[in-house]
Amino acid sequence: MADNTLQLMVHGKNIANIEPELSYPGVAINRVHRLDNPNYLFIDLLLSETTVPGKFDIVFKGSGQTLISYPYEILKRDAGSAERQGFSPADVIYLVTPDRYANGNPDNDSVPSLKEKPNRRNKDGRHGGDIQGIIDHLDYIAEMGFTQVWLNPVLENDQKKYSYHGYSTTDYYNIDARFGNNVLYKKLSDQAKKKGIGIIKDIILNHIGSEHWWMMDLPSSDWINNKGKFERSSHVHEVVNDPYITESQKNAFTDGWFVRTMPDLNQRNPFLATYLIQCSIWWIEFADLSGFRVDTYPYMDKEFLSIWSGRIHDEYPNFNFVGEEWPVVTNIPATAYWQAGSKTHDNYKSSTPSMMDFPFQTALINALKGKESWNSGIGDIYRVIATDFVYGDPYNLVVFAGNHDMQRIYSQLNDDMDLYKMAMSIVLTTRGIPQIYYGTEIILKSTGDHGELRKDFPGGWQGDRANAFTGKSLAKDKSDAQIFLKTLLNWRKNSLPIAKGRLIHYPPKDGVYVYFRSHGDELVMVLVNNNSNPVSVDLKRFYEVLDKRKKARSVVSSLDYDLREKISIKEKTAIILDVIF
Ligand code: CA
Repeated sequence: MADNTLQLMVHGKNIANIEPELSYPGVAINRVHRLDNPNYLFIDLLLSETTVPGKFDIVFKGSGQTLISYPYEILKRDAGSAERQGFSPADVIYLVTPDRYANGNPDNDSVPSLKEKPNRRNKDGRHGGDIQGIIDHLDYIAEMGFTQVWLNPVLENDQKKYSYHGYSTTDYYNIDARFGNNVLYKKLSDQAKKKGIGIIKDIILNHIGSEHWWMMDLPSSDWINNKGKFERSSHVHEVVNDPYITESQKNAFTDGWFVRTMPDLNQRNPFLATYLIQCSIWWIEFADLSGFRVDTYPYMDKEFLSIWSGRIHDEYPNFNFVGEEWPVVTNIPATAYWQAGSKTHDNYKSSTPSMMDFPFQTALINALKGKESWNSGIGDIYRVIATDFVYGDPYNLVVFAGNHDMQRIYSQLNDDMDLYKMAMSIVLTTRGIPQIYYGTEIILKSTGDHGELRKDFPGGWQGDRANAFTGKSLAKDKSDAQIFLKTLLNWRKNSLPIAKGRLIHYPPKDGVYVYFRSHGDELVMVLVNNNSNPVSVDLKRFYEVLDKRKKARSVVSSLDYDLREKISIKEKTAIILDVIF
């Protein structure tokens, strides 16, 4: 590793009174730390260039006698691990809620040692979906054209209830037994890789679950913010960079707990910070990951985020990870602030390569549902993208129409198939890395709260009437949407202008937005008619980009177009064209 130190957390009754020893070539105990709880010991190991993989015992001695002997292992590193490539604009990310996707192993639905038992009739309960269910359907995911899978968190969440979503970690080093185990998670990653799919791990460093074992015996009195007692976060994201705000109001946001069942971690504690950094690196290595999605990004300590992202970047310069900043209103500078390379007013340094583009998502919905006028409609999208100058790397933002925390995109767009196809066409061709929530391909709807947004994927359970994996008994509009998306995704996989090309766009005119993706001689042209009536578009305005090109072919319909003629576009339609010389 770039960093040759390793810190071990040891937990046991009065362990602080015992002295650790070890004997292994290339591994030395550099220092031992004791905090204010005698039940914890932190051992700093120093590794060397010559350290070889292998097993050794850490021996704990008292009064000259061995009291405990703990076996530890240094694992072999995979060749090329440090140079691993993260997800990129060439990819499309499929976001899956594991409990709700497919139940590949009904035997693990109920685990004696874990508190919450399955109940498929409860929308907030555990439905039995698991990692095996995803492995079983990797062929479907690959054939659809997805090249990355982001799973909502799968670490142990041993909460009494409402734990299926995975955002209440109770063990940072173990996959929840109702989803599988660490070995199965690694298998998912290996099998996915063989099909050209990378795995993105959803990580939560801001908080833990209230049933985390730390909560029964905190390593130190400052481990959890607000002295370990619940105090709700103000949830006012804007305070982070508000020029008029007081320190207490900043702290009320970052040190408050997200909710009562999610104790807020104090990342200013250096031992906790190291724990979170090492745990992140360990999972990249162990599960051969291609990315992270970082939950509740701005809720964490800023300086910690700077250090954490720097450490990940130092170890894996080509790895990609994306932070979640979801401000209440479209706040482009607040999103850009966290992205590596963005200019910041206070010289804050981030090494986080990507952010979720929530401002784009808001603009997309507003644009397609809005009336065309000088200050509403499709111009909303143009105006958001025209503000990309604030980002370190706008091409590396993750763009999406919907996710696990918002109403299903089809419902957001009033169950309108034309608007749905426009949204998907734009998300898959604009700058950035698209992410699509599972079930979007079969236009799942939602009308209620969180449990309702994360409905079971049809075909994932024995006895399901319809099966979206095979197409059996799938309604026609659902299978039409699925074929539409599959066509676009598989075209996108092989399009260099989309993977590597720059974006060129024109301010919308009369409700029509036109943009290009350009790479070398290759060109993709997208025409979006947001009017409620058909239009005929004269392309003369675009000859400066089209150059001498005269022909184009529609990606979806395969129709040929003569670019010297006007192009007719139906109402509420996007046309994607491969432009040909
Ligand atoms: Ca199961």
